[in-house]
Amino acid sequence: MQGKILKSDNPWIEHNPQWVRTATGAHLSLYQNIHRTDVKPYLFVGGVHGDEPEGVRLAEEFLLWLKTHSNEQDHPWILIPCLNLDGFQNNQRTNSRGVDLNRNFPSRDWVLSEEKNRYYSGPSSNSELEVQGLVKLINEIKPLVIIHFHSWKPCVVYTGAPGKPYADFLTLGNNYDSHEDIGYPTPGSLGQYGWLEHKIPVICIEEQEFSSLENVWPHFMQGLTGLIQGKLL
Ligand SMILES: [Zn+2]
Repeated sequence: MQGKILKSDNPWIEHNPQWVRTATGAHLSLYQNIHRTDVKPYLFVGGVHGDEPEGVRLAEEFLLWLKTHSNEQDHPWILIPCLNLDGFQNNQRTNSRGVDLNRNFPSRDWVLSEEKNRYYSGPSSNSELEVQGLVKLINEIKPLVIIHFHSWKPCVVYTGAPGKPYADFLTLGNNYDSHEDIGYPTPGSLGQYGWLEHKIPVICIEEQEFSSLENVWPHFMQGLTGLIQGKLL
């Protein structure tokens, strides 16, 4: 891990404000509470797609809750509020190099796709600094489950059958549909990478796109805080 880990106001939370430096020189933040070592941590990722503000809002509100509630009994967790900070600042899906981060992961099904495409895979798998950072982190910590936050049609999608109970749990408070597979191939996605290469189930939360940002946290609060409090173990 690059950067320095800092203590935050909550003594159980560590903050690394310079976890990854992007191609534009921007720094990505990482927060964690990994004090318990008897179980593997959850890994939460917001802002994979820069034009899905619902996903960033969800991560930010979750972090606010964690800052006041996180303690030594938490199920260990790591949270990256916004993976694609450069894209988010320009309200674009891809990063500053035009790459869809969710098609750039080094899974065995990665394929080169056309540049100028909103799903551009990048010139090679794992070519992007944001993806390299996350791949390194996944290899180091081997999370129990990876959960990333998006917006589209409202649903909770899991890749890897062991992800089903987590996906179902995350529909508490919103009654969204949960199902395996999003309905079209996603080569080089985080889901494919986590499951095919590591057998780590990956959950993709899709909030209703263009919905009021005020509603995002209430929709997922019960599920996300329940995971942290160990209600699904
Ligand atoms: Zn997305």
